[in-house]
Amino acid sequence: MTDKELFNELAYKRKNVYENLSEQEYKEMFELCDEYREFLDEGKTERECVEKSIEMAELHGFKNINSVKQLKTGDKVYKINRNKNILLAVIGSEDIKNGVNLVGAHIDSPRLDLKQNPLYESNDMALLKTHYYGGIKKYQWTAIPLAMHGVIFTKEGKKVTLNIGENENDPVFCVTDLLPHLAKDQMTKKMIDGIEGENLNILIGGMPVKSEDVSEKVKFAILKHLNEKYGITERDFLSAEIEIVPAFKAKNVGLDESFVGAYGQDDRVCAFTTLKGIFAVQNPKKTALAILVDKEEIGSTGNTGMLSAFFEMTLAEIIEKINGNCTITDYNTTIENSACLSSDVGAAVDPNYESVYEKRNAAFAGCGMVLMKYTGARGKSESSDASAEFVYEIGKILDDNGVIWQTSELGKVDQGGGGTIAQYVANLNMDVIDCGVPVLSMHAPFEVTAKSDVYMAYKSYVAFYNNR
Ligand code: MN
Ligand code: MN
Repeated sequence: MTDKELFNELAYKRKNVYENLSEQEYKEMFELCDEYREFLDEGKTERECVEKSIEMAELHGFKNINSVKQLKTGDKVYKINRNKNILLAVIGSEDIKNGVNLVGAHIDSPRLDLKQNPLYESNDMALLKTHYYGGIKKYQWTAIPLAMHGVIFTKEGKKVTLNIGENENDPVFCVTDLLPHLAKDQMTKKMIDGIEGENLNILIGGMPVKSEDVSEKVKFAILKHLNEKYGITERDFLSAEIEIVPAFKAKNVGLDESFVGAYGQDDRVCAFTTLKGIFAVQNPKKTALAILVDKEEIGSTGNTGMLSAFFEMTLAEIIEKINGNCTITDYNTTIENSACLSSDVGAAVDPNYESVYEKRNAAFAGCGMVLMKYTGARGKSESSDASAEFVYEIGKILDDNGVIWQTSELGKVDQGGGGTIAQYVANLNMDVIDCGVPVLSMHAPFEVTAKSDVYMAYKSYVAFYNNR
């Protein structure tokens, strides 16, 4: 053996996925990503994602658990929580007390939410007040086309679903920004102060009614339009949930179409691949579960976040529908034997900003599924640190099934940091590790992922469900 051969055997080197794919795998990858782009276009909010997931699940033979009295090996069911979470299950052949294999992803993404009393008129224009959701860089949300998605209830209790700005002929909305000619003061501000939260107002109209009786003539015209078209009044906004999201569609990026560019890939890239993963599972030994949760971007709080009891209650319901009952001991035994892939995006090294990464411990777009033993900030604060045993176990499953993977931390030590649902899953007393797809421009209106990594995430979930 030459020194070079020995060195290659002893040293670790990450691989580029594209260099290692067969022609057949290339084809599968592109097909998967065509479907992924459609999924992104159809699910720009957590509600839409849940609806789309139900549609896909039913096509794959999943039934609503509420319509099922007993569960047996091979059964496929789903459970919905408040139209914003979905949990899917494929019942395994082993005793469920041996543990389940769970993959969890989130389906909320950073955006602008309308305030409860949003509509006002200013300078002969009508605008909507917003309150941003999640960690955004505010300047990225000005001067781009925006769409309006959400639900609004009329006084009579009729639910109106809004989706404006997605069809070719729909109007879109926007947040206006200051012209450079008059931005002398703005441009010398710190970036964080450049655009203020209260200035993220949505332009919604500018055509006044011809009337001498009303002072707010543009607002009046918009109210008339909303009433005629949707049967709603201004009061109905008080209870509404309306999200403002980028209006553009998911696109292939690059001459070689090696990337997907789209809004909301954090974390719908993992949601999509998790769904495709559980759909590919047939007759698993251990029960396979997938959960898509809301509110991760604001701390996993609330009754639709990972911190809600929805997961525990649904797991207990599944155990009960398999075994006829579910004692505390049954539940506890199941949980402590279970394992979870907390499936969320990582930060891919950005060639424009290399200095914030420590490249020996960073993820690279195109180099596969990324395992993150821990996340957190500063001294690993607020992190779930997966054990060596568990990281080894998952790494081996991935290796044995031809998955190309890498590991990473989120940037250099003390550069910043972040968290995921992993710590809350860990609190339930099961093994969990963060893993997912590296993303460029994370949290921006147009995020970028490598198709190879989307494909490897999908392969990872299938391997996990079938082999742990
Ligand atoms: Mn995320
Ligand atoms: Mn995020």
